[in-house]
Amino acid sequence: MKVAVLGAGVIGVSTAHALSTLGHEVVVIDRQHAVAEETSFANGGQISAAHTTPWAAPHVPFQAFKWMFQADAPLLFKPLRWDPALWRWGLRFLANCTSRDVALNFEKALRIASYSRGVLQAWRQHHRLQYNQSTGGLLYVYRDQVAAANGYATAQKLIDHGLNQTVLDRDALLAEEPALANAEVPLVGGVLSPDDETGDAHLFTKTLGKIAADNKVTFRFSTSIKALVSRRHEITGIATDKGTIEADAYVICLASETPRLLKPLGLDVPIYPAKGYSMTSPITDNDGAPSRSVTDESKFVVITRIGNQLRAAGTAELAGWNRSLDPARLAPIIAATQSLFPKAANYNDIEPWCGLRPATPDSVPIIGATPFGNLFLNTGHGTLGWTMACGSGQVVADLISGRTPEIDLDGLGLDRFTR
Ligand SMILES: Cc1cc2nc3c(=O)[nH]c(=O)nc-3n(C[C@H](O)[C@H](O)[C@H](O)COP(=O)(O)OP(=O)(O)OC[C@H]3O[C@@H](n4cnc5c(N)ncnc54)[C@H](O)[C@@H]3O)c2cc1C
Repeated sequence: MKVAVLGAGVIGVSTAHALSTLGHEVVVIDRQHAVAEETSFANGGQISAAHTTPWAAPHVPFQAFKWMFQADAPLLFKPLRWDPALWRWGLRFLANCTSRDVALNFEKALRIASYSRGVLQAWRQHHRLQYNQSTGGLLYVYRDQVAAANGYATAQKLIDHGLNQTVLDRDALLAEEPALANAEVPLVGGVLSPDDETGDAHLFTKTLGKIAADNKVTFRFSTSIKALVSRRHEITGIATDKGTIEADAYVICLASETPRLLKPLGLDVPIYPAKGYSMTSPITDNDGAPSRSVTDESKFVVITRIGNQLRAAGTAELAGWNRSLDPARLAPIIAATQSLFPKAANYNDIEPWCGLRPATPDSVPIIGATPFGNLFLNTGHGTLGWTMACGSGQVVADLISGRTPEIDLDGLGLDRFTR
């Protein structure tokens, strides 16, 4: 079967790879000149199946309201903007803030994230993938007792779901990560998530894209998708600035651009961009840099060693599709990183970046069929797109091939928003 994959981020490339492995003829279309040039470019570098707690939770509306008046807030919601898409998304987000929904959404996200980590490991072993990966687990650190109590409760919930988590007091935390001895702020404890991993998502996507190309996947770069052409309940082609591309089946991996392209088909896809930032800097003192990825749970910042680089990422700003880089939003990430690892890098010499996370109101991606028989979705992976990429690509490839996916896809499809 000929399959067109729309979007060459980590989700599109993983989907194309899985499809080509199952014997399909695959064409990948992207407006950029290469793979992973947008949200998959410089993310936090974590494969964190244990980080699937949804954003929407009972305490969040109150917290988000307080943060509205704080320029450096980790989650910035600008409701005064005239943006109907934001308001609609915000209402759906609020509807997901009940304890019942938190539990349901957590289970769904964990299902795809855990499966995906296994698929990643299998692909890595099979293809001997190298992307500056580290399999030494992730550390969560807490600056105060309240954050620690919340973190320990989350760890217990994950243990109840079968994940390995180790609760650490301050001494045990410093033994796990000696570079934290240089921290200029008090730390009260942490949690080790030993089965999670890190690496360079951009390099991963490039490497997998090369394997896919060697397996006869065609990449059509610098090609802007203008519209999907349909007849009754089938897609008949993709209108692009370079002409029409036809296939037997189509997979949407367009992240935050998904709603705009699917709206003319009458499909309401609740994805809104949550802008995040990162900094990357060469490591200047090996012993002063973290040996594994550290998440500062009090500041919502992820700090990861990627080869000889230090990457720190965080913040979410719900303020439309604007991709401009605001130094004021990056500053708290740099400050948090410097306060934990003052010797790790020269913080005046950083590579700044920002990207739009494709966020759904329930923090669960949208994967599976649509009312159009040959149109499939693999989008809306929010904060955990790399973590979920390989598994999401595999299950969509299975669906298109008429195979039964290895995990239950109930609750992951677009129909959950229309039921
Ligand atoms: C600061 C930050 C930190 C993060 N940290 C982590 C982390 O540690 N771990 C993790 O798992 N996830 C993390 N994420 C999330 C993760 O990066 C994303 O979920 C993931 O990259 C989304 O992949 P994607 O392929 O869906 O999107 P993208 O990589 O954005 O790919 C979509 C592609 O569609 C193309 N496209 C869009 N519209 C068109 C059009 N009209 N025509 C042609 N092409 C089009 C774009 O060019 C793009 O290449 C982070 C994100 C951010 C912003």
